[in-house]
Amino acid sequence: MKIYLNGKLVDRARATVSVFDHGLLYGDGVFEGIRAYRRRVFKLPAHVDRLFESAHTLMLKVPLTKSALQRAVIQTLKANRLSDAYIRVVVTRGPGDLGLDPRKCSTPTLIIITDRIVLYPERIYRDGMAIVTVPTQRNIPEALNPQIKSLNYLNNILAKIEATNAGVEEAIMLNAQGYVAECTGDNLFIVTRGALLTPPPYIGLLRGITRDTVMDLARALRMPVREVVLTRHDLFNADECFLTGTAAEIVPVVRVDGRPIGAGVPGRATATLRDAFHRLTRTDGVRY
Ligand code: PMP
Repeated sequence: MKIYLNGKLVDRARATVSVFDHGLLYGDGVFEGIRAYRRRVFKLPAHVDRLFESAHTLMLKVPLTKSALQRAVIQTLKANRLSDAYIRVVVTRGPGDLGLDPRKCSTPTLIIITDRIVLYPERIYRDGMAIVTVPTQRNIPEALNPQIKSLNYLNNILAKIEATNAGVEEAIMLNAQGYVAECTGDNLFIVTRGALLTPPPYIGLLRGITRDTVMDLARALRMPVREVVLTRHDLFNADECFLTGTAAEIVPVVRVDGRPIGAGVPGRATATLRDAFHRLTRTDGVRY
């Protein structure tokens, strides 16, 4: 396997970074998770834009232009002869000293890993997933905005551990006011009386690219789509619930905190959106 590291394609065993890299010492950096389907990189420009936005807020300079980064992603996919893949782009502050001052880090580290995608088991897509709310709240935007897709995922990891301890795969994270924000690596939607509802970004969540795609698909299917503040009560009484993310795609949710959602099986609107999403992944994207 070849890894793109600072402008070169190197073997996996040689793809190493300094122990002084602030990505490691402080989680100082940003990343993107992207997918390729049948030699098309899905939503590549949107992912590159989001990476640059996260980096801009952190005053971290991405060492390539947007178009050169797109080319580097494709170069890495081709080097590994992958037609379906999960792609991880990472930009760290680079090596510095043991202090946290980013001014001591002169050269950012750029890494592109392309690998085969590891999915949830098929039964989760067929039968739906059970999820729970967890005690760890989503970071408040005033402290660390969840819109920054940074290398510091401890907030999400704590919630993931709580989900695992509760015997489920995913956690619903609430914001500091107790409103539904998102899951540890996915956005959350409900369907209520035919309308597709999801929390607005100001609640404190990452505006997922799959989230945006699903909202566009629903509008094209003439479904009403609304960003609204949601409570746990709204989730419990929804007709359908599902999660969205680049790796997971669209995952039906059938149980929240022990309450069955709707009929307790994956819903019709969820299935329709999953079909539309899969069709889009086959026709959309940057070809290579
Ligand atoms: N929320 C969080 C916290 C995430 O890390 C991710 C992606 N990994 C998402 C939502 C989904 O975003 P996207 O659809 O862009 O993958």
